[in-house]
Amino acid sequence: MNLLKYSRIALILSLGFLSVSLNKTYGQTVTERFKIIQLPYATDALEPVISKETIDYHYGKHLQGYVNNLNKLIAGTKFENAPLEIIVTESDGSLFNNAGQTLNHNLYFTQFSPEGGGKPVGKLADAINKKWGSFENFQKAFTDAGNGLFGSGWVWLAKDKKGDLFITQEINGSNPIVKGLTPLLGFDVWEHAYYIDYRNNRAGHINALWDIIDWETVNQRYQ
Ligand code: MN
Repeated sequence: MNLLKYSRIALILSLGFLSVSLNKTYGQTVTERFKIIQLPYATDALEPVISKETIDYHYGKHLQGYVNNLNKLIAGTKFENAPLEIIVTESDGSLFNNAGQTLNHNLYFTQFSPEGGGKPVGKLADAINKKWGSFENFQKAFTDAGNGLFGSGWVWLAKDKKGDLFITQEINGSNPIVKGLTPLLGFDVWEHAYYIDYRNNRAGHINALWDIIDWETVNQRYQ
């Protein structure tokens, strides 16, 4: 009786050690240097502009995938302990793509609110008026840049060190920081951002996004 009990315990212990050593062998103990950002709203909170299904895929699968790849690719390199912005500005190839997409989506998912919409106020509103004459003119220029970007990428509102504003088009996973600019507001125009809800209607998706922009967050990024 006792013998059986002890052999069961021994078996459980040895399976435990085996799984620890397998994890080490196959690299699953790579530290999660970067973790996926937490959404500041429920996954269905942005409906009908962005559906829960799109959030589940876009945040839960796409962004999680970029973060996982980023963690794997920096392991054992000079970027292992580097801040995300440094990795984006100094890396290339696969690492650049995954680091850029992690940074892009961190900014993207935190710029929305179910109570969003309206217009910016204060210093940001002044800078927009200075550059484009009115918020509506800016909105049109930004929308045109998003609709006119060929293939996959992003359109950004960004600022330089003086606080002057720019609209930039970024291909694939790039971000305005590679041009020395600070990103403030980004629309993801990869098909994965809108295909479930809007099919091929990128323009319809872009027009709808204005209703969920959290200008308070964008304003803070401008400070
Ligand atoms: Mn995306």
